[in-house]
Amino acid sequence: MKIFENYSLAELNTFHIDVRSNKFIVVEKVDELDNLIDFVELSSGKFLILGGGSNILFTKDFDGTILHLSFNQLSELKSDDRFVYIKAEAGVVWDELVKYSVDKNLGGIENLAMIPGTVGAAPIQNIGAYGQELKDSLFEVEYIDLTDKKIKTISNEKCEFGYRDSIFKKSLRDKFIITSVILRLSKNPVPVLNYGNVSNELSKSGIDKPTIKDVSNIIRKIRTEKLPDPNQIGNAGSFFKNPIIDENKFESIKEKYPDVPSFRQENKIKIPAAWLIEKSGLKGYKKGNIGTYPNQPLVIVNYGKASGKEILEFAQLIQSTVFEKFQIQLEPEVNII
Ligand SMILES: Cc1cc2nc3c(=O)[nH]c(=O)nc-3n(C[C@H](O)[C@H](O)[C@H](O)COP(=O)(O)OP(=O)(O)OC[C@H]3O[C@@H](n4cnc5c(N)ncnc54)[C@H](O)[C@@H]3O)c2cc1C
Repeated sequence: MKIFENYSLAELNTFHIDVRSNKFIVVEKVDELDNLIDFVELSSGKFLILGGGSNILFTKDFDGTILHLSFNQLSELKSDDRFVYIKAEAGVVWDELVKYSVDKNLGGIENLAMIPGTVGAAPIQNIGAYGQELKDSLFEVEYIDLTDKKIKTISNEKCEFGYRDSIFKKSLRDKFIITSVILRLSKNPVPVLNYGNVSNELSKSGIDKPTIKDVSNIIRKIRTEKLPDPNQIGNAGSFFKNPIIDENKFESIKEKYPDVPSFRQENKIKIPAAWLIEKSGLKGYKKGNIGTYPNQPLVIVNYGKASGKEILEFAQLIQSTVFEKFQIQLEPEVNII
């Protein structure tokens, strides 16, 4: 393990907020965590796991210890005639796992290409994009339970996955460190094409019988055109979740805006937060160094050296403007620290 003091996090969060952590520890092996947990609890009591920093907004210096898990083994556990079970340690870069499975023609996570961050963070908000979610391919999660410091395994069914949600945001909140994830990937992949403009883009490229590699590549192309690259413009992807509203509320919006886009979810309706932001006049809106990204207003971007506090205030301004217009409270997807 490597231990640093008064450590700059500017390159470790995709908003590029220049804050510092009292202690920053790179954990290179799972078993190093045993002693570390006691040490951190005794020395400061306050700690945070930081993966790729792509779903986090630091609003101040971190007065405690940050653990960055760098163990990153990938291994094939078993396979049967339909599935291969892959174990990926927490420090594996998510997109490397997507490339690995696509190269082996194993289906299930190809539409999740180019989502930044690490495997260890992926189950927490059940990452999803273009019609796939982690929960569709996740078999088990291994984690350290901080209440008794034991390594435990939790099955997919028990993870209480929902839209950008899981047990790790509910009853297990702040009580776990994810050490690895086991995926169950299909040997006979069926491409998922029915979301956004995936099939359109494939036909434009003259592909009528796409493989999962074709789908993954097209999604890479769409994402590159639509989303800002965090290495060039600081951002954390979608800042807010898409709100899920009831039928009455939806009808009242539809009366005024017959073209409101919507997705039915059991007896509720999900509407794109990006649409609400756009209709509130905030698409491409800029204030100082901060703005909503013109191609995708759900993404808040740091055009310069904005502080985390300023970004939070900007996000609050979006929330209150959308609330005034639609009486819908947008909820952040990003973790605010
Ligand atoms: C350009 C861009 C596009 C994005 N697109 C998408 C998208 O399409 N779909 C989507 O779902 N998300 C998307 N995201 C959000 C982000 O990539 C995911 O949420 C990702 O899973 C975060 O991983 P991370 O390693 O960066 O997590 P971090 O930001 O480092 O951490 C996020 C949270 O998880 C906790 N955490 C991290 N690792 C562990 C661990 N091992 N054990 C316990 N807690 C842990 C942290 O403490 C923190 O609370 C996007 C982000 C960006 C910047």
